[in-house]
Amino acid sequence: MKYLLIVPDGMADHPLDQLGGRTPVEAALTPNLDAICMEGILGSAHTTCSSHAPGSDVATMCLLGYNPDEFYTGRAPIEAASMNIELGPLDTAVRCNLITADHEKLIDYSGGAIPTEDGHKLIRAVADELGTDELVFYPGISYRNILVRRGKGDLRVTANPPHDVMNRRLEDVFPTGEDAGMLRDLMRRSRDILEQHPINRNRVQAGKSPANMIWLWGNGLKPALPTFEDRFGRSGCVIAAVDLIKGLGQILGWDVPNVKGATGYFDTDYDAKADAGIEALKDHDFVFVHVEAPDEAGHEGNIEEKIKAIEAIDEKVIGPCVAALKQYPEYRVLVLPDHPTPIAIRTHVKEAVPFAMCGTGVRAGPPVSYSEANAKVAEVQFENGYELMGYFLDS
Ligand SMILES: [Zn+2]
Repeated sequence: MKYLLIVPDGMADHPLDQLGGRTPVEAALTPNLDAICMEGILGSAHTTCSSHAPGSDVATMCLLGYNPDEFYTGRAPIEAASMNIELGPLDTAVRCNLITADHEKLIDYSGGAIPTEDGHKLIRAVADELGTDELVFYPGISYRNILVRRGKGDLRVTANPPHDVMNRRLEDVFPTGEDAGMLRDLMRRSRDILEQHPINRNRVQAGKSPANMIWLWGNGLKPALPTFEDRFGRSGCVIAAVDLIKGLGQILGWDVPNVKGATGYFDTDYDAKADAGIEALKDHDFVFVHVEAPDEAGHEGNIEEKIKAIEAIDEKVIGPCVAALKQYPEYRVLVLPDHPTPIAIRTHVKEAVPFAMCGTGVRAGPPVSYSEANAKVAEVQFENGYELMGYFLDS
């Protein structure tokens, strides 16, 4: 049996007045998605059922069949996996943003979208002064870096994601908890190093935001996830552009090819993603194609882009991938978003999402099109979203 999972990130939404009371997916033309519901079933799965905030990492772990309350340890160790950083059992990964702060407030979580090359130089300057055998800095892409504390176990801290506390007073939003002192100290000391750095002086002169401080958050030990093959007995491959999803794939023991032109944004090369998914079906049991664009549109509150992204996924990803899948004698396909990112709220919400499933052995339900409203009253409902994967694979 060949299995295909397609996740249009953040696709689910709420009814909008601007769309005459319809949601973006109801307003969008999605003949391929609707065909899956017609041939198989439309159901509802609560993929944000855990106690954690409904991040894409948590929700995706859940829809892949792993209860986040059991397995999730934090965002940074998943990103570390995507950067091929090895973590030992007592190593803690911490996300290390380059941010912009003024003398009082956190201004920008991305340090003015610092270019990767400059970001590397800044993180190296920080590492030269603050790095030790125990504290190791790893430069990443743009403002997104990783700090690893080796050998000491997890940090007992609560730390705010910087994108959630923009324009707040630093003193009010610094990490708290037993080990917070160390993180605060590193963050304060990074400021002395970065403020004076020639790159930041030049940025200020050019009227750009300086990346003048590090912000530490998202800490966690390496999650003890059984591989997908161990848990479900199927080999897997993930086609994705975003680090979090690729990192999760690494941890699950999947192949994680780099797809040229996959950007994680509206301009992503949908055809290239579909081609990569179709190729991966040849030598894997389970192929997961992730598309980030609807979530980005949701965060921007952009109805038009969200509908365009959903229609592009339907036409260019679901259509060709399902057609290729149907060449195999036995197959199943599942399409669902990881969580809703409603246009009106512009962030993720903890609500159930609709899923569409069809293929070999999937008994057809009542003929309905894909929509949030139809899913709410569907016969098949998963209160525990992590139970859906077993149902998809084995029912
Ligand atoms: Zn997401």
